[in-house]
Amino acid sequence: MGIGSFDFRAFIIFRTELPKSKFKCILDFKFSFCITIFLLYGTLGWIFFLLLILIVRIGSAFQTHSVLTGRQLTFSILVSFILLVTSISIGYMAGKLRSNVAKMREIFNNNDITFWSRDSRTGKVTVSEGNAKIYGVSREEFEKSPNLWFDSIHHEDKSILLDSLKKQESGKRTKVVYRIFRSDGQLRWVEDRGTPTFNKKGEITTVDGVLFDVTNQKKTEKHMHKMAYHDSLTELPNRNWFQSYLASTILSAKKHNGSIAIMFIDYDNFKKVNDTLGHNAGDILLKQMAIRLQSCVRKDDIVSRQGGDEFLIMLENTSAEEVEEIAARIISTMNHPYKVKGNEVFSTPSIGISFYPEGGNTAEALIERADFAMYLAKERGKNNYQFYNEELNQKMKRKLMLEVRLHKAVEHQELSVHYQPQINLTTGNLAGAEALLRWKCDLGIIGPGEFIPIAEETGLIIPIGEWVLTEACRQTSQFRQNGIDSFPVSVNISSKQLMHPHFIGRLENILNEEQADPSLLTLEITESSLLFYEDAKHNISKLRKLGVGISIDDFGVGYSSLSMIKNIEMDELKIDQSFLIDALESKRISSLLETIILIGKNLEAKVVVEGIETAQQLELLMKHNVFGQGYFYSRPLPADEFEKWYHRFYTKAKIN
Ligand code: C2E
Ligand code: MG
Ligand code: MG
Repeated sequence: MGIGSFDFRAFIIFRTELPKSKFKCILDFKFSFCITIFLLYGTLGWIFFLLLILIVRIGSAFQTHSVLTGRQLTFSILVSFILLVTSISIGYMAGKLRSNVAKMREIFNNNDITFWSRDSRTGKVTVSEGNAKIYGVSREEFEKSPNLWFDSIHHEDKSILLDSLKKQESGKRTKVVYRIFRSDGQLRWVEDRGTPTFNKKGEITTVDGVLFDVTNQKKTEKHMHKMAYHDSLTELPNRNWFQSYLASTILSAKKHNGSIAIMFIDYDNFKKVNDTLGHNAGDILLKQMAIRLQSCVRKDDIVSRQGGDEFLIMLENTSAEEVEEIAARIISTMNHPYKVKGNEVFSTPSIGISFYPEGGNTAEALIERADFAMYLAKERGKNNYQFYNEELNQKMKRKLMLEVRLHKAVEHQELSVHYQPQINLTTGNLAGAEALLRWKCDLGIIGPGEFIPIAEETGLIIPIGEWVLTEACRQTSQFRQNGIDSFPVSVNISSKQLMHPHFIGRLENILNEEQADPSLLTLEITESSLLFYEDAKHNISKLRKLGVGISIDDFGVGYSSLSMIKNIEMDELKIDQSFLIDALESKRISSLLETIILIGKNLEAKVVVEGIETAQQLELLMKHNVFGQGYFYSRPLPADEFEKWYHRFYTKAKIN
């Protein structure tokens, strides 16, 4: 409640409680005025009444004409009646007023509020009874010890009081909040308001004020502050606090040329833990992460939780070497397993680092750049740290830009599929075609090498991949209708698509809708997707049952081991073009290429060599009885150009 609403009542109580002070007690005055009027009217009423009786009696005693006329008698009765009623009402009001005053006095005496007055000439302070509740000493004792009130103020807040005293002496009203120690040692927060009173000459005679205990209010404020700036799970400062603290640290670093480093930490497979073991387990893990992070940094470094599994660390006055040392320590500490609800859990960190002033001079810029660098750490295999640099910034900005546009690509009909022929190198006939996705938007032609990873990261690969499959199946029928002999079409699919729970169902629908022959469809899976072979195994065998071919793409540059290859049910092995490029230069590589071809053949797979660009490369492969694909035959072409290529190719073959 605002003190404004107390003012009048406070004034009354103040004066009733300090009747001996120089103040005239308005309330007492009103009260005694009521009583006086009550007595006066009551007495007059009775006198009138008695006189009336006397006169009537005298009249009847002498048996003469009535002393009073009838009108006079009525008038007299009326007057005495009015006087009596008035005196009773006033008495009632006075009683009411007194009980109200007593109530109000009780309220104020029982609340932590005190009224004070300081004589400007003598400096003497008088206070109300409520003072005892706030300071813990009686009113008399308080008034007797002139230094007590100042001594009880917290040393850090004394200057606040001295400033307010100066203001009061210059005739200004004051309102200050400060801490005091009660006589029992308890720390209390008080709000103190003072108002100077002037005499006719304009001199300050007294300063009157009210002081009340705001400790509870402060506690609530503190709690609210904690809620607004604290992460209740980890007990670390939260994002809001970190941002504003970083902003003020930047300001002071600007003044004394200080340096600041920001680390953005994201845990690599936290989501998996959350999804498999539940949110409660996730919370336990986050708490443990917070503790470990704190153990890795220096005493004054600040660790904060941004939300989810993201943490920020601020390191002041440090060097790149020291930051690197701390980042390495965080990685090694975090690589130890966590114990969560009886399970051993692993969650490695990806760390992005930005520096002030090189990486920006606002809190937002530094955090954003550390975040960018963290993404780079993720891209570079996770469980590592990366520093922010401008090149990375540009790369990330473009990525974000492409991500926004890619969302609309299908809808805006910006995607198309190109076809690259595959040739049976022994017979020289068309053996198939690979469908390769193309994207042309207002930024120009974007290569699949750039947008496919974005589509995979954002999950857009699912709808886009379905669109490619539909388009390829539709085009295969179209080729046939246009008089081209049937040939298998290979479509690249990413591991995300392969492992999607609805993938097989969607593919069956597409095959049905497009009336496509499953045996004319081959799905190319990159070798790196085989890392998740255990998860994909189920879908791969379902696909083969459907009659769809499986091809292992870019073989030789991924991470698969031979034992993994041995377990895969595959129909085709595509050897990465890097082998062919180097085979002509190096005997070792050409032997390696031959060995891989043999492996494929021994696994009864169709072996396709990618990237044939020259006649020498073709010659090298001819003796191996394999299939090939490359610019030597044709670049990937739009469907209509592919048809033209096809007719040209066979016309030429017939002539030869
Ligand atoms: P990939 O599946 O290995 O496709 C072969 C890539 O090699 C194609 O690049 C093709 O244009 C290129 N290429 C073919 N012959 C030659 C040659 O003689 N010399 C050289 N230097 N390159 C040749 P492209 O079209 O840029 O595609 C790159 C990668 O993008 C593909 O590699 C594939 O992994 C991915 N990709 C393309 N389309 C799709 C798609 O629809 N879905 C998915 N998931 N990935 C796709
Ligand atoms: Mg491919
Ligand atoms: Mg390939």
